[in-house]
Amino acid sequence: MTPEPSWLERLADAFQVEVEPGFGPPTVDVPVDGWVDAARTARDTLGCGFFDFLTGVDELDEGFSVVMHLASPAVGRVDSVLLRTRVPRDAAAIPCVCAVYAGAGWRVPELLDRVRSADDLYFDSVSRIQVPTWSRGRIGLVGDAASCVSLFGDGSSLAMSGAFTLADSLNGDISAGLRAYEARHRPQRAAKENSVAYATRLLIPATPTGIAVRNFALHLMPLVNAAQRVGIERGK
Ligand SMILES: Cc1cc2nc3c(=O)[nH]c(=O)nc-3n(C[C@H](O)[C@H](O)[C@H](O)COP(=O)(O)OP(=O)(O)OC[C@H]3O[C@@H](n4cnc5c(N)ncnc54)[C@H](O)[C@@H]3O)c2cc1C
Repeated sequence: MTPEPSWLERLADAFQVEVEPGFGPPTVDVPVDGWVDAARTARDTLGCGFFDFLTGVDELDEGFSVVMHLASPAVGRVDSVLLRTRVPRDAAAIPCVCAVYAGAGWRVPELLDRVRSADDLYFDSVSRIQVPTWSRGRIGLVGDAASCVSLFGDGSSLAMSGAFTLADSLNGDISAGLRAYEARHRPQRAAKENSVAYATRLLIPATPTGIAVRNFALHLMPLVNAAQRVGIERGK
């Protein structure tokens, strides 16, 4: 019996390119004028019916990389691909794939309509306000309002463990309970915050030099992975 082609083989076949497994999902580079066709190929040929996200990377003088993550969910596994293209800085526009992934329910059509008609679209910055205390009298902060660390995860788990600690600490006097909750929960956030602050500086640098270094390092990831694979093969 012929074995099922792997996900990488299917990608290579569908896009007629050699696909190297990299850091995270495999990436396929496509020309900007093939952007919509590539999404259609992923949907129709590879079963990528789930549009996960669209994002961009500032590549400085080289323009912007635009990336969409498409997934083919099946029972017990999810295969996915990052389709990537590059647009120049002075013509930063890309064809819309809305039609390929039309039909999402809920408020998605309304949101897309609003994006299309907006002339004041902007990307918000991510910021955090440090509050010295989490309660005043009978009023207390929980979840992100108190213990948010970043967008990199752990916010939900910290919110839930904080809620548990709060419930455990409230035992009679509310003000004292809120203070006890903060005394127990704050150290948990502090421990996570240190590692997140380090990761944030690496992944979201604040200077053009930092962005260039990060982009260079990310481009090296496939090479590092390939070297690791060679090492593993030799060690067998
Ligand atoms: C892009 C992104 C990715 C993330 N990924 C992860 C992850 O992988 N893992 C993880 O653990 N965490 C992740 N987080 C963080 C996580 O989502 C939050 O830490 C978590 O949702 C915080 O829970 P919360 O209940 O404090 O706040 P929220 O979930 O923000 O809930 C606050 C609620 O209050 C409502 N609200 C606001 N103002 C009012 C008002 N005036 N009146 C009534 N209601 C109001 C809001 O509509 C909202 O429903 C991510 C966050 C983002 C933005």
